Amino acid sequence: MPSASPSWIVCKFGGTSVSSRDRWDTIGTVGRAHQADGRHPFLVCSALQGISDQLEALLEAAAQGGDPQEALATIRERHEALAHAMDLDSTAVLSEGFDRLDRLTNEVVAADPIPPRLRAAVLATGELLSTRLGAAYLSGQGLDVRWLDAREFLRAQDAPHVPPRRQYLSAACTSHPDPVLQDHLAQAPDAVYLTQGFIASNALNETVLLGRGGSDTSAAHFAAKLEAERLEVWTDVPGLFTANPREVPSARLLRRLDYDEAQELATMGARVLHPRCLDPVRRHQIPLHVRSTEAPEVDGTVVSADGPDVGPQVKAVSAKTGVVAVVM
Ligand code: ADP
Ligand code: ASP
Ligand code: MG
Repeated sequence: MPSASPSWIVCKFGGTSVSSRDRWDTIGTVGRAHQADGRHPFLVCSALQGISDQLEALLEAAAQGGDPQEALATIRERHEALAHAMDLDSTAVLSEGFDRLDRLTNEVVAADPIPPRLRAAVLATGELLSTRLGAAYLSGQGLDVRWLDAREFLRAQDAPHVPPRRQYLSAACTSHPDPVLQDHLAQAPDAVYLTQGFIASNALNETVLLGRGGSDTSAAHFAAKLEAERLEVWTDVPGLFTANPREVPSARLLRRLDYDEAQELATMGARVLHPRCLDPVRRHQIPLHVRSTEAPEVDGTVVSADGPDVGPQVKAVSAKTGVVAVVM
């Protein structure tokens, strides 16, 4: 019997967070911890780190009349190596995705120019492959994992006047509370749901993308659809910092921000949050936590309507080529 109103936590794991067996162990631990607290985990995952770039390289090679096989081989090897490290049967888990990518590559080679619809289908294979691996691994670790195709539930807004490139590669999606999705998930309330970031579908049931880095935004849409208690963005740094911590070692961790402050940082180039991910959570007042799979014990940053508990101050300095923003 479905529970009356399950309390969902949506957790998004970025490229580095899904690229090794250790990280998938952390993902499993996060899922179990939420279940132990009586919450229902809904996991949204990116492609393995660097794979979306390799898929772009494949498209680029084909567009230049070159050979996409090198990129294709790298993509295969990366996934096979992870399957091996996870003690999985790589053929059983990956062959459907690889076959699809082979077929799409043939279409790409024959196309001139490559239509945005085909580009989107190729890029989507990264997230489809990573989530197949993750679901197989976590199931083998004893979790009741349900793999979902995000495209069944995340729909692009109808935008007939938007150029096709944007319609297919940087689509905007709707994120109203979604009783159909909620009822669907409530059928197995004790499961851990696992789906893809970055990908959605249009009214023709074609694959569309939410823009590079868009898995954060997918997760925010799912959080809004599920009226989640919280959105957790798990990445490779333990939160939002006053500046990019990889470039500025003295950058400070920002513990609490309001949605506007986080939006300002994301818009001005703090890549840790995709600029479009704040709107869905702000509209539904869902707190967003940024955490690190490298240091899961660190509390990280909380973005919420409460915001900081101190007065105005310089919050962060971020840089975009040719633009510098000082967030007050
Ligand atoms: P993921 O693959 O998990 O989505 P991203 O690479 O998209 O991760 O985002 C995380 C990266 O964002 C960090 O490795 C960091 O270098 C970069 N970054 C840029 N500005 C900031 C900032 N102000 N605070 C934290 N991280 C930042
Ligand atoms: N895999 C996609 C990218 O690299 C989406 C994401 O990771 O957010 O852009
Ligand atoms: Mg990202």
